[in-house]
Amino acid sequence: MGNVRVRFAPSPTGPLHIGGVRTALYNYLFAKKNKGTFVLRIEDTDQTRYVEGAEDYIKKSLEWLGLGFDESPESGGEFGPYRQSERKAIYAKYAEKLVSMDYAYYAFDTAQELEMWRADMKSQGVHSPKYDYSTRMSMNNSLVLGKAKSKELIANGTPFVIRIKVPENEKITFTDMVRGEVSFDTSELDDKVMLKTDGMPTYHLANIVDDHLMKITHVIRGEEWLPSTAHHVLLYKYLCWEDSMPQFAHLPLILKPVGKGKLSKRDGAKFGFPVFPLSWNSDNPEDSFIGFKEFGFLPDATINFLALLGWNPGTEQEIFVLSDLIKSFSIEKIVKSGARFNIDKAKWFNQQYILAKKDEELAELIMPLIEEEGYEIDMDYLKRVVSLMKARIELLPDILESGVFFFTDNFNYQEKIVRKKWKEPNAGHVKKIKEELSSLKNFNKENIEELIKNYIESNELSFGNIFPLLRVAVTGTTKGPDLFETMEVLKKNKTLSRFDVAFDSFDVIIKGKTTN
Ligand code: GLU
Repeated sequence: MGNVRVRFAPSPTGPLHIGGVRTALYNYLFAKKNKGTFVLRIEDTDQTRYVEGAEDYIKKSLEWLGLGFDESPESGGEFGPYRQSERKAIYAKYAEKLVSMDYAYYAFDTAQELEMWRADMKSQGVHSPKYDYSTRMSMNNSLVLGKAKSKELIANGTPFVIRIKVPENEKITFTDMVRGEVSFDTSELDDKVMLKTDGMPTYHLANIVDDHLMKITHVIRGEEWLPSTAHHVLLYKYLCWEDSMPQFAHLPLILKPVGKGKLSKRDGAKFGFPVFPLSWNSDNPEDSFIGFKEFGFLPDATINFLALLGWNPGTEQEIFVLSDLIKSFSIEKIVKSGARFNIDKAKWFNQQYILAKKDEELAELIMPLIEEEGYEIDMDYLKRVVSLMKARIELLPDILESGVFFFTDNFNYQEKIVRKKWKEPNAGHVKKIKEELSSLKNFNKENIEELIKNYIESNELSFGNIFPLLRVAVTGTTKGPDLFETMEVLKKNKTLSRFDVAFDSFDVIIKGKTTN
């Protein structure tokens, strides 16, 4: 396929939802697979919905994921500018062209008049009144008033919009690359506004004009835009651009983990997982969201998870790094039905990527979390901790919890074990083991292991009575990585002082022992 040009065209109306990120990803994969061009176009014509910081957020999110653009507001390109607010002058002329060809008309109805009209229609039993072929001749527009009168009104400064004139009872058909043939009956469509009273285009006009001028070959976007495509196809026809109309691919919805409907931004808080790539902070706590990144996901794991949310290669393979995805991706393998968001699956992917990462790389990623908690440790130490702990974490911050004993002496003991096992003769043996450890010259895991095992065997003790106490004394818990290596990493002094503190604390726990 030569000359593929695709675009990601977000509106900066807030943080970019994970569904939007998937749209960007599929566009990116399709472009790279076909050695094409990936364009970022910011669709910011609706000033009333503009949110400060949203464009920057979009940029940072895609940067974090490593999805770079070939043309964008930042990097420029042959078809710029790439921010619609900087292209204002372009659109009106196309709206006027539609009027001159009788494919559109001026409408002077004020917002108040339209509101009254809708209320009136509803009172007559029309459920959702539409400005369309059946009603436009009873409204205040140039089709009714005639050209001369309309020109006069416009010259006098009367506010107007330009509406597309959708024909009655025709079929609009196009082939969607995901859904196959899709058709719409024009009688169902309204005469959508193309140019607003402020002279700004609506999404529909700006989107089509820009896709045409930017020579976009494929429009890959969310399913929610499918109904708008009927108007878009009509616009291509009216503007005589049918021959270069892009191919459309509408991506399946991302569904809630349980129940019906599309995954919404509120589902994140509801189910306790992120639905945005990066954290977004707003004055209103309800509009502040945690991101995949801050939740502890790695970018490559996030990409892998999102890629498979609506696409699969038709094989058993699940792990795909970006370069594999580029090789394997095809629009034909995108599924039609909605893809259910599964956070456990996302965590599983993350774990696979954590395991595959070098200790050094992981330590670099984890160090900021450690510092944020106020722990003071050095990189070499953290690398050793990471190598011991990485098989035990799904998300990066998990290490702060399950590996807390590596970072601070201030951790809780698993009291149940203490209550059950801290009695004689176990307690005396554990104390003796500590004594023997204190005279161990080379405090490495092999020597530690040999000493402890020898002690247990030569005294004919049961592992099950002694080992859990050693573990809890040093780490607070019976769950954890290899204890001998843990001791080596903590070093001799720390290990021994942990024992001393534990012996006192264990006695206190035993004294406070209750019957339950
Ligand atoms: N600006 C639209 C959005 O926010 C673009 C839709 C499209 O890709 O055509 O998603």
